[in-house]
Amino acid sequence: MPELPEVECLTNAVRATALGWTVSDVRFLRQDLRAPIPTKRFKALFTGQKLSEISRRSKYMLWKVDGQGYGIFHLGMSGNFLMRPTGEVQMKHTHAVFTLSRPRRKDVYLHFVDPRRFGIIDCCTLTELEDHKYFRELGPEPLSCENLADHLFTRSRRRKQPIKAFLMDAKNVVGVGNIYASEALFRAGIRPLKAAGKVNTSAYERLAQAVDETLTAAIAAGGTTFRDFRNADGNPGYFALRLNVYDRAGAACGQCGEKIRQVKLAGRSTFYCRRCQA
Ligand SMILES: [Zn+2]
Repeated sequence: MPELPEVECLTNAVRATALGWTVSDVRFLRQDLRAPIPTKRFKALFTGQKLSEISRRSKYMLWKVDGQGYGIFHLGMSGNFLMRPTGEVQMKHTHAVFTLSRPRRKDVYLHFVDPRRFGIIDCCTLTELEDHKYFRELGPEPLSCENLADHLFTRSRRRKQPIKAFLMDAKNVVGVGNIYASEALFRAGIRPLKAAGKVNTSAYERLAQAVDETLTAAIAAGGTTFRDFRNADGNPGYFALRLNVYDRAGAACGQCGEKIRQVKLAGRSTFYCRRCQA
């Protein structure tokens, strides 16, 4: 499933291609993915308009048109954008084709492909975004939050929920998926099962730093993968991060040699080192 780093890299790739270009045509090949696609409204908002900003919020990609609104995209389990020199559908599971035009340049086509159809294509006006159902309950961005450690510490007081589940809840902070939560907790030396309310200030400081480092490393690894996203195969997958604990049950901890343990926590596989994480 594409996580924050994958969405960040794909957003950067789409921005490099599409920013400042005019959406001259929008074609939908179906009316729904995980949710219905507001096809008419999308076309009305975007057709003939110039893309003025392409950004990411949580795991959503946003296309902005000044004075009009936002296109909202979620990749679900298997969504991707492919850049093609033709608007002809070449891949199975292509659900939308966006034609981008610019004076004296050849048209470029962005194909939205999603085999499992858990993705989302939506839109809203500029003023609707803040209170939109997908965004209104989201916590801060882990890479741009001014003081993530303070925020997490304050929010977690008296919480008995395990720190890993707390960290993965987008209401507390967005974009820390299962792999990244396991890895960040290892780096910070915090056991995943520890109650979030029992984690102290200095541990939250280590954790905020670890989340930043883990996500930044994943984005750096993915930057190369997505440099030319014409070659992408329709499934961004996970980037080749060097993992310390995730999916390494029974293997020796790289720090102390102890066997990595695996437990199920809130239905998710969780990996940790008993000696390095207190
Ligand atoms: Zn260890």
